[in-house]
Formats: sequence, structure tokens, C-alpha cells
Amino acid sequence: MKTTVRFAPSPTGHIHIGNARTALFNWLFALRSNGRFIQRFDDTDTARSTKAFADAILYDLHWLGIFPDAVHAQSKRFDRYDDAVARLKSAGVLYPCFETAEELELRRKVRLSRKLPPVYGREALTLTGAEIAALEAEGRKPHWRFLLPNYGGGDPSEPVRTELSWTDIIRGDETVDLASLSDPVLVREDGTYLYTLPSVVDDIDMGVTHVIRGDDHVTNTAVQIALFRALGAEPPAFGHHNLLTTASGEGLSKRSGALSVRSLREQGIEPMAIASLAVLTGTSENIAAIPSMATLAAQFDPASASKSAAKFDPADLVTLNRTILQTLPYEEVRSRLALMGVPEASAEAFWLTVRGNIDTVADAARWWSIARNGAETAAELSDEDRDFVRTAVDALPETPWDTGTWKTWTDALKEPTGRKGKGLYLPLRLFLTGQPSGPDLSDLLPLLDREGIVARRP
Ligand code: GLU
Repeated sequence: MKTTVRFAPSPTGHIHIGNARTALFNWLFALRSNGRFIQRFDDTDTARSTKAFADAILYDLHWLGIFPDAVHAQSKRFDRYDDAVARLKSAGVLYPCFETAEELELRRKVRLSRKLPPVYGREALTLTGAEIAALEAEGRKPHWRFLLPNYGGGDPSEPVRTELSWTDIIRGDETVDLASLSDPVLVREDGTYLYTLPSVVDDIDMGVTHVIRGDDHVTNTAVQIALFRALGAEPPAFGHHNLLTTASGEGLSKRSGALSVRSLREQGIEPMAIASLAVLTGTSENIAAIPSMATLAAQFDPASASKSAAKFDPADLVTLNRTILQTLPYEEVRSRLALMGVPEASAEAFWLTVRGNIDTVADAARWWSIARNGAETAAELSDEDRDFVRTAVDALPETPWDTGTWKTWTDALKEPTGRKGKGLYLPLRLFLTGQPSGPDLSDLLPLLDREGIVARRP
């Protein structure tokens, strides 16, 4: 069977770098196994899910370099979930419950005081047909719970230790005792679905072979494996990765605005800087700027993720970004440079000249302005340096300029001015760019405007 993974966010906000980690673990896994990547929107909560967020998530994924083979939305598949519900009911493993939240809380407290595990005691299973009819006649609507197979064929009100195990492709052997869990509610009073059942139905229908998601879902997995079996399906393989947290250990949420993929894009962070940090944090690999998705896929090993939280420092994004830019090919920035007004004829040479000296591509706009219009603020030069710069400008070679012009020019200045090294280069750099450091002047000079330089002679 073809390896098939899925990324299944709820479209209730923008995805952040932690969601990107999940998406990338799946995408890289698919790339490595030549498999399929399904984008699934868990939008059964129709009140909070929006098409705009779904579209924004797809945009973010494409921008990151993730290209789904198929896109599905749970909101279009309610008939499939209704069908599964009918099957579970007729198998006797989905039962109606009428307790209110307050009643449940009270029972939980009683169980705790009796040193019993604080799980649902399955009281609703003992309701007779007449009692159920009476409750419904009162206008009460049931919620529906899945009867976990944790009573060994005996009395469901007395669960027995029932280990459910799987070999997690990230965490290794995992075991959950089903007796430690409450029967999960699959359908609410108002008929809406919780995430648990639709996810399983989709994974079956869509031929998902590997479910890779955050380790906040480990317990869900035990329940869902039981549900796969109750629906007569073989469960897929599961992998749970550690979650990204801030340095103080705080988890990310849809409200982590500054760390949303969209906001990072707006801050000028490149996709591969995000991908490198999102994937390599919390693994046994060093965090390094990986230049392409193919390279990241080649070195990706899901089992290298550790079991503890993946703490990360957003400041690393800037460092990684700088490194990514140093080798970023012109093709990747062609349209962005065009938007900055860099003419096609000089754009590639310009990019290769400045890419080693910028934090973000947007910084290139600043260098383009310096190249065309000179320093943002004229450098303050000592009297001697000013005289030297005047002499230098008078000796500027005629155009056309090439990468040899800087050497020709400065070599010719050495003898008459008696200057060399920093004393020769720094005043010229300051005059030409207003900056004490920056791109190699042999490369930069041919991009500058000779007439402008002459006009700005100090
Ligand atoms: N919508 C779920 C979430 O975002 C999906 C979990 C899963 O991958 O099954 O947590």
C-alpha cells in the first residue's frame, strides 16, 4: 500500500511554527517514502472554522514548500460519520448518556473520594429502554459514548486492566491501559461530532497508513486504535513527536501570533529557516540551516525526535535566515527583487553581491537604494579622509565597470596618496555606502552609478 500521511489542523486560526513541525514531519516522511500527503481540514466545528483560515493554511503550506496530493474537509463528510455511528450503535458499542456536566463532576468527586479512578462509571449503560424513553420524553438529548473494550467480556461496569500497545514510529513501544480512560464522547447532545470519530473514519476512507502528530495525542491514539478495530479496520502506524515550546516551556497556540507562519513570512524569514528550526529542534540532530527540502528530507529521521519538549529560541530564526540567504539562489528571489525595482539586467549580480550581508531579503532593498543613490546619510569623514576621497573620485575609471575596476582604481591610488590597506579602503567604503562594512566592493562597485558618485564628491 502506498505510504499515505495527512496533516489535519482545524481551520480556526493561522498555523504557527509548531503546526509547521507536524506538517513537515508528515511531508518529509512522505518525501522519503515516495508517499502521498493529504491535507485534511478538521472543520467539524463549523462555528469556529472558516474557509478563509483553510485557504490561509494552504497558502502557508505551499509557501513552506509542502504540496498536498489531495485536500479534504470534514464538513463535507458528515454522511460518512453518520454511517459509522449507525454501525457502532448496532454493534452495541455506542451508547446514549444523559448526565449533565454537573452530574458528571459530582460523580467524579465521589469516585475520587472512594479511591476509584476518576473515569466515567458507565452508569448510563444500566438505563432501561423505558428510562431512556422517559428521559427523551422530558426533552433531554443524549450524548453518545464509545464503549472501550476494557472489561474482558465481563461486566462493563468493572473494567479490567487492558493494555493497548503499538510501536510508535517516533517514540518506540507505547502502552496505554484502556481501563484508565473514560469511554470517550463521540457525539454531543446537539448531534455535533467531537474530533475522535471523524478522524478515524477519514483515516480509514483515505487509506492513511501513518498518522504522525503531536505527542498531546498519545492517549487519543489508544482510543482511536480501539475505534479502528470496532469499525473493522486495521489501525495505521502512529508516530507522536514532541511539541515545540518556548524557552520557558510554554506551548504554542493559535494565539502565538508572532510565531505564525504568516507573521514570520512578513518578518522576512525564509521557508527553509523555519523548516530547519521546526524540524531539527528537539531531535538528536544539530540545528543547522538546511538549504532545501530535499536535503532536509534526506537527513530526516522521525525517530531522532526526543520524548521531552522541544524548546526553541525564536531568535535562532534570524541566524538561520542569514545563513540560508548566503547561498539562496537568484531564482528564489527573482520576483521579489523585481518588486523592489532592481532591473532584470543587474538583478542576479546584485543578489550574489548582497546575499552574504543581509538578515532578510527586504534588506536587499536598502542595499539597492545605496547602490543607486549612495549612502542614506553621508559618512562623516576627517579632513584628510575627505581630501583622499576627493582625489579618489577624480581618479574614478571610466565606465563600463566590471569586478576588476575596484582593484584598478585602488591600485592606482596607492602611490600618489601613500595609502594602503584599511586607510585606503575604509574611507572609500564609507563614502560609497555610508556603512563601515558590507558587500565586497569589487562586486558592489560595478552596480553603482558613476555619475551619482561624482555628483556626491564631498
Ligand atoms: N485536528 C487535530 C489537531 O489539530 C488533528 C490531530 C490528528 O492529527 O489526528 O490536533
